Amino acid sequence: MSERAAPYHCPYCGDEDLRPNEEGHGTWECAACNRAFRLKFLGLLASGLRRTGGGGNRPDDSEGSAA
Ligand SMILES: [Zn+2]
Repeated sequence: MSERAAPYHCPYCGDEDLRPNEEGHGTWECAACNRAFRLKFLGLLASGLRRTGGGGNRPDDSEGSAA
């Protein structure tokens, strides 16, 4: 696979007719809504992988405990 992340759908209109923009790598333009946008990798989430998959009930999930 290539290093670049290619969007499959336009984030604005959801169309799949995307093509690389001439601004540079990471920039795409949508032929359906004529929008140009840039994809940028911000980095890995430090605590993103911890929370998911843990499971269990939330302690604050119960409602109306204090009447
Ligand atoms: Zn679009």
